[in-house]
Amino acid sequence: MENEKGGVAEQGSESASSTFRGEARRPRLKPINRQQMMLRPVEVEKLVVEDHEVRAIWEFVGRLDLSRYYEDIDVVEGEAGRPAFDPRLMISLWIYAYSKGVGSAREISRLCEFDPAYQWLTGMEAINYHTLSDFRVDHKEALDELFTEILGLLSAEGLVSLERVMHDGSKIKACASSDTFRREERVRAHLEAARQQVAQMGDPRTTEEVSPRVAKARQRAAQEKRQRLEKALEELEEIRACKRTLGEKKEARVSMTDPEARVMKQSDGGYAPSYNVQISTDAKEKVIVGIGVSQSGSDYGELVPAVDRVEANVGQEPGQVVVDGGFTSRDNILAMSEREVDLIGSMGTGTSQSAGQMKRRGVDPSFYPEAFHYDGISDTYTCPAGKILRANGEEKRPGRTNYKYRACATDCQRCPFQQKCCPQNGPRSIVRGVDAPEVAAFIAKMETDEGKKIYRQRGPVAEFPNAWIKDKIGLRQFRLQGLVKVGMEVLWAALTYNIKQWIRLCWRPQWA
Ligand code: SF4
Repeated sequence: MENEKGGVAEQGSESASSTFRGEARRPRLKPINRQQMMLRPVEVEKLVVEDHEVRAIWEFVGRLDLSRYYEDIDVVEGEAGRPAFDPRLMISLWIYAYSKGVGSAREISRLCEFDPAYQWLTGMEAINYHTLSDFRVDHKEALDELFTEILGLLSAEGLVSLERVMHDGSKIKACASSDTFRREERVRAHLEAARQQVAQMGDPRTTEEVSPRVAKARQRAAQEKRQRLEKALEELEEIRACKRTLGEKKEARVSMTDPEARVMKQSDGGYAPSYNVQISTDAKEKVIVGIGVSQSGSDYGELVPAVDRVEANVGQEPGQVVVDGGFTSRDNILAMSEREVDLIGSMGTGTSQSAGQMKRRGVDPSFYPEAFHYDGISDTYTCPAGKILRANGEEKRPGRTNYKYRACATDCQRCPFQQKCCPQNGPRSIVRGVDAPEVAAFIAKMETDEGKKIYRQRGPVAEFPNAWIKDKIGLRQFRLQGLVKVGMEVLWAALTYNIKQWIRLCWRPQWA
């Protein structure tokens, strides 16, 4: 059916019919006209309701000191040049987008064209995705300061106490797949090809085949590729050094897409190129008080830097830090004790010679260290065959001293239990580990009901922001590459999380 403007209006279902006084008739329906043009007034202020969270984000960001961002703007009043977008707007846009699980500059730019909340923020202005993308990564120091300042505001609202901080680590996949990892010779071959490509590229202003803009973009891409491969060679050296320390013999490989990513074990048991994100959460209102990214697959070395970050962000050390077994090493117990931070964590008391070690050596369980009797007065052990093992040196480690005892070689050679007790070339030895007083005090504390009760609170608090960032923000895989940019991506996520906590605890109740 043709409408008044010459367009075609849809009539609805052809099969629609009804019966009137026994006759079959088609019902009369309103036509749907999708060809018409409309011009209607929009009251921008009313695009979102009064208690819409986009208003809360705008209000909160308005309270922050953004002078670091303003300093970077070259265009000034009274001079020629296109005006810059207000940093308050750009920050609000990114935070609102992250809170909705949108982490792509292109997607935000598209949403600004039709989504009422984005239109309200921008005042119906279109924003190019390049502008949005550059803003996200261009202001590292300013973003760090912003995080600190937000914590200051949340502290002033009484949402941060630092009495108890729960700390946890979580692996987030890098923006690189496992098959981008190459050995040194392949990386060098690719680098040589990239260098030649850059050298062959002429001046983009004089290239005739494509427009100068496209030529410039291609040149930039080739240079970035060359820099990335040069970085890959540097990282390869670090990976090699790390493997040497761990005694690994496998040849080192590095990702050519994101050289700073490392292959890490995931929670599902698989392995993937990832970064280790460290989050410190204040237990009072689950506010994130520190966030960092590391290339280490293990958490042991991350506790001290995490406490440093909290202190730098909030201006004081946490009174108590609660961590899981991945952080509870003797070094960390000593470090926290020295800083007078009360550490709560899980840690097996263990013996110096674990059951695993005994099993690997082929020792029969009836000859594990527990079967040997220690006499403190003579400082000797007596073995199940009644022979004496005497002191044979000591080894000092952080938080523990290992005292070694050894049986007489001829005793073991003549012993009928030799195959069960020391099947790999005797004589049998025993190690007695003695913990430093700080470690012994920690172990005793963790055996009390109070210690166990506090530790049980760790999971719900420490894992909440981790889960929120992955599920609500959708940050299960980074969109950016490299340690610095990935660090900024998690910082944006943490900022968003904290502002959402403020909305939930301080802003939303006023509308209830
Ligand atoms: S092998 Fe040596 S240490 Fe072991 S039970 Fe016999 S004598 Fe004792």
